[in-house]
Amino acid sequence: MSYQALYRVWRPQRFDELVGQQVVTQTLKNAIITHQISHAYLFAGPRGTGKTSAAKIFAKAVNCHHLKDGEPCNECEICKAITNGQLNDVIEIDAASNNGVEEIRDIRDKAKYAPTQADYKVYIIDEVHMLSTGAFNALLKTLEEPPANVIFILATTEPHKIPLTIISRVQRFDFRRISAQDAYERMKYILDQKQVQYEEKALWVIANAAEGGMRDALSILDQVLSFSDNQVQLKDALTVTGSVTKQLLEKYFFEVTAHQSADALNTMKDILNAGKDGQRFIEDLISFIRDVLLYQESPKLIMVESTGLTDEDFQKMSAAAPATVLYQMIDALNGIQEEMRFTTHPDVYLEVLTVKLGQIDDQPTPAATAAPAAAPSRDDQQTIAQLEATVKQLQATVNQLQAAPAAKPAKPAKPASQPRVQQRNVEVKLSQINPILGKATRRDLVEIQGLWQELLSKLSVPQRSLLHVSKPVAASTGGVIVAFDYAFLFQQAMDDSALLTSMEQGLQELTGTERKVVFVPKDKWPQIRREYIRDHGLDKRQPAKKSAAPSTSGQQPAESTAADEQRPPAAKDSVGPADPVSKAQELFGSEIVKIEDN
Ligand SMILES: [Zn+2]
Repeated sequence: MSYQALYRVWRPQRFDELVGQQVVTQTLKNAIITHQISHAYLFAGPRGTGKTSAAKIFAKAVNCHHLKDGEPCNECEICKAITNGQLNDVIEIDAASNNGVEEIRDIRDKAKYAPTQADYKVYIIDEVHMLSTGAFNALLKTLEEPPANVIFILATTEPHKIPLTIISRVQRFDFRRISAQDAYERMKYILDQKQVQYEEKALWVIANAAEGGMRDALSILDQVLSFSDNQVQLKDALTVTGSVTKQLLEKYFFEVTAHQSADALNTMKDILNAGKDGQRFIEDLISFIRDVLLYQESPKLIMVESTGLTDEDFQKMSAAAPATVLYQMIDALNGIQEEMRFTTHPDVYLEVLTVKLGQIDDQPTPAATAAPAAAPSRDDQQTIAQLEATVKQLQATVNQLQAAPAAKPAKPAKPASQPRVQQRNVEVKLSQINPILGKATRRDLVEIQGLWQELLSKLSVPQRSLLHVSKPVAASTGGVIVAFDYAFLFQQAMDDSALLTSMEQGLQELTGTERKVVFVPKDKWPQIRREYIRDHGLDKRQPAKKSAAPSTSGQQPAESTAADEQRPPAAKDSVGPADPVSKAQELFGSEIVKIEDN
């Protein structure tokens, strides 16, 4: 028998086997147990998170006559036929290749007929966002008058591309990215079952490289297995995932923080020679330094074993540079990342960057004394002289490159100073934020602020340390918006699917109300509020100019409530003038007035 890919062989056949989607699977099982089955579902989420697997399990569960706790038996004829894709009543359609109106019309015509073998006919339409407008309209007609005993399951990685008219007729489930921990556990389980030897570190490297997709994790694992003769070794995992340069990155880090720029330049060349492109090098370096920063904050904040490095490595790196230096490094990296997008000479930029990183000054730390500050030797002086010459030369080259804008893909006439805090890949979910803003009240925010510490105490230690740099900034009865001081911690929180679940559960226990938690980076928050207010015409009601009036604690708004008094002093300072309180202020609480200052 030919080799079958792991993700096929180990495709989940029961809800319990779906990794990292407990909320979704529990709800689906409950629906089946209580016979509350809807006629249309939307499964939304990143690729490889189990959407189509869940759809097939659901198709079995609604049709299996030997259910156990909402799970299909996987033994009966119906279950087996669905597993093998041989049941005529369960129809899988890939909208990416069938995006025509005809195909959907075909569904409409055939959906009218009762199922032949099973109780329910189930249509699973994958990548449904690819349907053409005409096809969506045809689908909508079917959803408006759903035939009896027909269930539609629409799966998509891009729910925002689906017309609202469709969304409003389906029950929606959001699948989350799989955490590295969950992917690791699943691979461990599979390898144990297969009795294959593995190095745990190798599994962590794979789990991280998969970036939230279980299918990707298993595909990489497949490659590693074929690479190393049915063994999973760290070195092969590093090669397959292209993380071979992790050790080199560490070397580079030590060299720039020890101001050994000449060595660092060589290491950088080694990294590029190992096949890494310039942008990827910068991205990896940013996430590398981010890990060091997190480790400094609290070693529990990162899963050391998942990085391919050791605790000892991290201790040394943490000692090599204080946080202030690390932040400057990230700034420099972000800056160069922007500039590099418009150049055809990335190597020049990387060389300048390397020298620049090597020059970032730090306060002497105990660890820095590991390399005793002896007077520069002759060799050192020679190196320094060489470096200075190199820098001059590089600077000249950069100037030349920048002086010839016509040759480059036109960089629009933007101010030269790019906002440095802006990180690429920072994704803010406006679709989740705006509904909360729409119903936000000051009272809700004060309530959440009041029980924030109690909420934190319900979380695990790593989760708590991550949230130390966050605070609730807006709240409604349906949700809470939490802002993070640093974009990279925001990213860290976004990647932690268990964190959101714990917070939402904790909030429900504390308030008795179900609230969605949404994260934003703090530096994006003023803009988000400003745009919301502008788009909803709330600013028009703001008394012109007057908001610039100084606010003192003696000038509290007439509406000042007891709740206001609980506000921390810093927030109170931002309370607006004693004018009639604006609509915006009523909605979001006084912090909103800050917008006028931005
Ligand atoms: Zn069955």
